[in-house]
Amino acid sequence: MDIPKFAQKVADKLTQNGYEAYFVGGCVRDALMGSVPHDFDITTNALPNQIKECFSAFTTILTGEKHGTVTVVSEGENVEVTTYRIDGKYEDGRHPVGVSFTKNVQNDLARRDFTINAICYNGEIVDPFGGREDIKNKIIRTVGDADKRFGEDALRIMRAIRFAATLGFEIDEKTKESIHKNKRLLEKVSAERIFVEFSKLLMGDWAGKVLMEYYDVIGVFIPELLHCVGFDQKNDYHIYDVYEHIVKAVEASDKDLKIRLAVFFHDIGKPQCFTIDEKGGHFKGHDEKSALIAGCVLKRLKADNETVRIVETLVKEHQREIIPEKKYVKRCLSKLSYGVFDLLLKVKYADTAAHSKKAEGNFAVIERLGEIRKEIEKDDECISLKTLAVNGYDVMALGVHDGRKVGEILNALLQMVIDGEIENEKEILKKAVKETL
Ligand code: ATP
Ligand code: MG
Repeated sequence: MDIPKFAQKVADKLTQNGYEAYFVGGCVRDALMGSVPHDFDITTNALPNQIKECFSAFTTILTGEKHGTVTVVSEGENVEVTTYRIDGKYEDGRHPVGVSFTKNVQNDLARRDFTINAICYNGEIVDPFGGREDIKNKIIRTVGDADKRFGEDALRIMRAIRFAATLGFEIDEKTKESIHKNKRLLEKVSAERIFVEFSKLLMGDWAGKVLMEYYDVIGVFIPELLHCVGFDQKNDYHIYDVYEHIVKAVEASDKDLKIRLAVFFHDIGKPQCFTIDEKGGHFKGHDEKSALIAGCVLKRLKADNETVRIVETLVKEHQREIIPEKKYVKRCLSKLSYGVFDLLLKVKYADTAAHSKKAEGNFAVIERLGEIRKEIEKDDECISLKTLAVNGYDVMALGVHDGRKVGEILNALLQMVIDGEIENEKEILKKAVKETL
């Protein structure tokens, strides 16, 4: 197993001081799978004070000292060092009350969530629960009785489906049954932690499969989604029900969290907007409705404000028809900014990819919109008041003193410039203002 020097140095320091030290958890799992670990955790029989003493010459961060964790900074990288521990009783289904330290690494491995995360390494592998076998067979299985382990800490339910989505593993039959059975325990888990796991799940290469199989689990914290499952669209442009369409679109979307969230929510309000006539099913207003739901859910899950704002916008705009001509693209850019417009095209692409062949023509339109947007930026064309050739002072100098009126005039000029009705030249714009006054 390849351990980078900065991490090995920390383990060596502990062993030189007479302690046991093992790499453990995600870093061992990832290394055994042949991928590069993103962080390194060490488990040791040294007590927190002894860890601190060992690393007195290093920068240390006392992140979770009462749980026995000291973060050691080695060559500029963080390594988490944690004392072997046994978790006490979980009274609230999330936080162990009374952590106790143990002398035996086997006990520390036994408290870990899944067999694939309960392997440790220090030149030799310690793997009492068959984690390597499960990695080989791509199986996620709790260490010990699943009901008991999910009962102790329901976040593990989210972790299980998150690992399934990111690693492409199957969840073992018993663990799977227990997840479905115990899903309501997630109601006790904090929104922030659920959102962290849900975000990782959505970004997984196997997100689609997990969204299909565990919609009932996700429905515990996003019940709005349950109306979409099995909802027949009765429309030629669709080959999937609303939920399947959402999932196919997520699978087709770029791996960017805002895009994936927007795609996940883009049609969630459809069932509430359904009407039917001789032409088939319609969902008038579902863009606004879905944006409303997206905003509500994301705020409830304590997503950051920027994410909420951008995802709401993308959902609201996802089916706006933009005619592939400069004037219309500029109007859109002036409303959304370049960055959000780019995300919107990606959302539109994913949405189209999850429609029937009848919608295929949209791909060419999306591509053309992207080209036009590039030309506009390259030519630095005016799409906002910032680049308009006159500003508020110019308008005031022409004798307008009411601030609101100045704003109205500038915005009207900007619209004319964007629509190509007038050139973005100072003198020409000033003349137009004089004429209207
Ligand atoms: P990644 O860092 O790739 O998300 P990871 O498995 O390293 O995955 P961490 O949250 O970094 O996840 O946790 C490190 C280790 O701590 C895990 O591998 C597991 O052994 C243990 N662990 C983490 N969370 C729990 C939990 N809720 N219950 C039991 N053990 C846990
Ligand atoms: Mg980790």
